Amino acid sequence: MEKVYLNGKHVNREDASVSPDDRGFLFADGVYEVVRWYGSFFLGMEEHHRRLIRSLREMEIDWPEVEHFPELCHSLLEVNGLSENQALVYFQITRGAARRTHQYPNPPVAPTSYAFASAFNPDKEARLKGVAISTAPDIRWARCDIKSVSLLGNTMSFQKAREKGMYECIFIRNGVITEASHSNVFFIKGSNLITHPPSNHILSGITRGIILELARKEGIRIIEDAVHAEELLQMDEVFLTSTSSEVTPVISIDGNQLGSGTPGEMTRRLIALTEDKLAAIIATIKNANRIK
Ligand code: PMP
Repeated sequence: MEKVYLNGKHVNREDASVSPDDRGFLFADGVYEVVRWYGSFFLGMEEHHRRLIRSLREMEIDWPEVEHFPELCHSLLEVNGLSENQALVYFQITRGAARRTHQYPNPPVAPTSYAFASAFNPDKEARLKGVAISTAPDIRWARCDIKSVSLLGNTMSFQKAREKGMYECIFIRNGVITEASHSNVFFIKGSNLITHPPSNHILSGITRGIILELARKEGIRIIEDAVHAEELLQMDEVFLTSTSSEVTPVISIDGNQLGSGTPGEMTRRLIALTEDKLAAIIATIKNANRIK
């Protein structure tokens, strides 16, 4: 039976319930994280943990368990027998339940914490063949840097993209590309790797950080600058990054084929570097276990 984490306990999914007065339900007043388990480690756990702390701080939510976040993710995998699999852990913390008023409850109420883990099957075909995406106006709020559960702008835009048969949509705000509905976006022009700088208009993705670090080590020139919507089709390569999809090549935008319509050379190189990094982590863990 699937166990979820709710307010400090593991409970059967069907027994888990929260108050209808929870501010997560009434106002989307909460934050979340998604971490990926590769069968023996969480990739970027420290960075995810740091981002969660930041999101909570920005929202002024005091979750007393925050320092135990990595262990809570681990134990959720264990109780569900997922430790040997590829899995995702979804974790959210809301401000808690209180009579509805816009102002934060004073004194504060206990936050509601909820998490679930599920086995994960990566979309290998998308990564191998590349995906078609569309553009959409960035209708989201101006604090996209907070990983808030308030995702209506993202879900509405993604739904429209899916209805057009698209894998993702990338947002245009003030004439420039910010990010995608649930991923960051990178461009390659000549030998330059370009992506939107960290700002209140994008979520600073953990995968984005990993790719920038790998590229830097390889001596690839990085430009953290916004790409104008008119320049989009002049880009040599485009790819998306996220915890679940790692690096996904883009082969067409709004029905216009990019380059030869197959994943580009630099994108494939960055995918290979990501795989090398994962293999190196696995080798280190195996070695450490052998020494034990
Ligand atoms: N931007 C948005 C809007 C997202 O929802 C996500 C995925 N959570 C990302 C970027 C990618 O972030 P990460 O690499 O940390 O998964």
